[in-house]
Amino acid sequence: MARHFDVIVAGGGLVGLSIACGLTREGLRVAVCDEGEHGFCASRGNFGLIWVQGKGADSPAYANLTAHSARLWPAFAERLRGASGIDPALAQPGGFSLYLDTGELAAKAALMNRIEARAPDFRHETLDAEGVRRHFPDVGPEVVGAIHTPHDGHVNPLKTLRALLIAFQAQGGVYLPRHHVANVETGAGVFTLSTAGGSLECGRFVLAAGLGNARLAPLVGLRAPVAPVRGQIMITERLPPFLPYPTSLIRQTDEGTVQIGESQEPEAGFDDGTRPDVLAGMARRAIRLFPRLRPARVVRAWGALRIMTPDALPLYEESRSHPGAFVASCHSGVTLAAAHHGIIAPWIAGKGGPGLAEDFHAERFTFQTSAD
Ligand SMILES: Cc1cc2nc3c(=O)[nH]c(=O)nc-3n(C[C@H](O)[C@H](O)[C@H](O)COP(=O)(O)OP(=O)(O)OC[C@H]3O[C@@H](n4cnc5c(N)ncnc54)[C@H](O)[C@@H]3O)c2cc1C
Repeated sequence: MARHFDVIVAGGGLVGLSIACGLTREGLRVAVCDEGEHGFCASRGNFGLIWVQGKGADSPAYANLTAHSARLWPAFAERLRGASGIDPALAQPGGFSLYLDTGELAAKAALMNRIEARAPDFRHETLDAEGVRRHFPDVGPEVVGAIHTPHDGHVNPLKTLRALLIAFQAQGGVYLPRHHVANVETGAGVFTLSTAGGSLECGRFVLAAGLGNARLAPLVGLRAPVAPVRGQIMITERLPPFLPYPTSLIRQTDEGTVQIGESQEPEAGFDDGTRPDVLAGMARRAIRLFPRLRPARVVRAWGALRIMTPDALPLYEESRSHPGAFVASCHSGVTLAAAHHGIIAPWIAGKGGPGLAEDFHAERFTFQTSAD
């Protein structure tokens, strides 16, 4: 006999667990199937920013969702801490993008003005070199300015993932590792999943399998045109605190290490390795921003794959042909975790939502294709 759940979530990364945790709070019996340690998992290799800055230049809905999620984060972090006993190490002092080139700074300022004009939830300021130095006394002499947004922050992403898993289980959720979802059949309002751990049934099925969504979505009449974009990150030995704010390239973690990384490499495909030339370029830039990093020892470096839609906006949709099947994909699953927990989960549970299905469904890609 297949085990039956109200909802099964495929994928135990940040997106799947944030949604699953929110669904258990709705009183539903929820299971998360994850394929295990050998699949791609952006949630185990990301930079940990809660980053509103620059999001949604052409989509006020995305800018507002992102800003809203950032506002939900403090209560979300508190709830995770309470339910799991693990502190996700949230700090939201505001975030900075630092610039070594006046042209690049001006271009980013123009982008930020465009977002702010269309998304009322959004605020930013452009700082000159002197303004940057007031916030970062250790900044290098080559820095010409910065963009500052007050909503931004960072967490420890691995502690967040662990806290989500423990909170989910503490709330009655069932976590099933080594349960790769291979196939889905539907009938009489029930989804029957063939998994590596046996057959499972559910009334609602959520695809939150990261890059795996591309294969699963057509099984329930959905489309998830997601592709990998590699990012590489390196981390230094622990250093005395010197970075009071996260920046888009560098942040000092709650443990004192300094994390460096912002590469975007779609050309790497499904290769999640590292390249010395990319790492060296990031290290050189980091040292120009903060010369005191020059003697710091790098203790680890890794690559991980972002989950990117063609327009870089999230994807949230319920299947028309298979009602009760939902897809959720995004490239900022740390930033949006609080929204996935507090907005997307209730929407999946049938408690409405702020028009997400209209703003973030996959039909937008069909329209783009036919216009080309
Ligand atoms: C280098 C890098 C830096 C980043 N920095 C940030 C940042 O600073 N801030 C931010 O907000 N976001 C950041 N991100 C993005 C963020 O990490 C992702 O948006 C988020 O982790 C996506 O979570 P997910 O659960 O959708 O996917 P994943 O974390 O990839 O998890 C998907 C899970 O589903 C499993 N799975 C796949 N197929 C199946 C199947 N058929 N059956 C069962 N399980 C399956 C996989 O094994 C995996 O465990 C970064 C990403 C990268 C790569």
